[in-house]
Amino acid sequence: MEIAPFDNRDGYIWMNGKFINWNDAQCHVITQGLHYASSVFEGERAYNGKIFKSEEHTKRLFKSAEIVGIKIPYTEAEINLAKDELIKKMNFTDCYVRPIAWRGSQQMGLSTSKADINVAIAVWNDWASYFKIEDRKAGLKLITSPWKRPSPDTAPSEAKASGPYVICTMSKEFAETKGYHDALMLDYRGFVAEGTGANIFFIKDMEIHTPIPDCFLNGITRQTVIEMVTQKGFNVIERHIKPEDINQYDEAFLTGTAAEITPIQSIDDITFNTGDDTRNFEFMQDYHNLVRS
Ligand code: PMP
Repeated sequence: MEIAPFDNRDGYIWMNGKFINWNDAQCHVITQGLHYASSVFEGERAYNGKIFKSEEHTKRLFKSAEIVGIKIPYTEAEINLAKDELIKKMNFTDCYVRPIAWRGSQQMGLSTSKADINVAIAVWNDWASYFKIEDRKAGLKLITSPWKRPSPDTAPSEAKASGPYVICTMSKEFAETKGYHDALMLDYRGFVAEGTGANIFFIKDMEIHTPIPDCFLNGITRQTVIEMVTQKGFNVIERHIKPEDINQYDEAFLTGTAAEITPIQSIDDITFNTGDDTRNFEFMQDYHNLVRS
């Protein structure tokens, strides 16, 4: 199915306090957010008409904004309400939710003293799966990216800020042009960090290892999955993982709001178990049930 371009769709977008027609949600090309990546955003999913962990996502949006110095001119409650109303207005039950706050057109250059802050929320329902469903079932093929996650005193790693995403985009493009689904990103020290838009986990027997989120986003899905698998009796160990350690694991998977739980089939020439009788597969189903419960 052909996906409609994002700048020409039916429906509504909440922008700066009002619901407006989707195609009227515009900003000028001379916009601070576009030129200097002065923007922060969220990625959320609604299941059966309810956003999973909506309040946590809004809190992270405000925290991201605070870290990069953007003062959102709304309350968290107003944003939570706007998200829910928008989903109803769009008649969606299951959809992706994208709030974004950015510095606008009142001022150019790097100074922010006169910059206007804009906030918008859009929802769409054609990201049923972030990766193609057949690729999720078979597991993704990853290649190590030449681009690294920077240290936390170089980039605001706790903020979901647009700027650092260009590293993810370059890594994703590197992977796709080489015929892979996604890239594994190492950090500035050479430890395993994450995928381009999702956190990473490794399984060995009843132990699950995942990198310490000290220079990348501690994903809301990551935290949810740690709780979920701990309750199932697995021992989750957060540690610095070296690339040469990953051939000791049986299974690996990515977690993220868009990616949900997605098994990994290989990283470079290291392969992992995938399929119906793996823990990956079991966790995918558990997560599916959890977010809908
Ligand atoms: N890392 C990156 C770079 C991401 O873009 C995302 C998706 N927001 C994640 C991790 C996972 O975060 P979450 O589970 O909160 O969606």
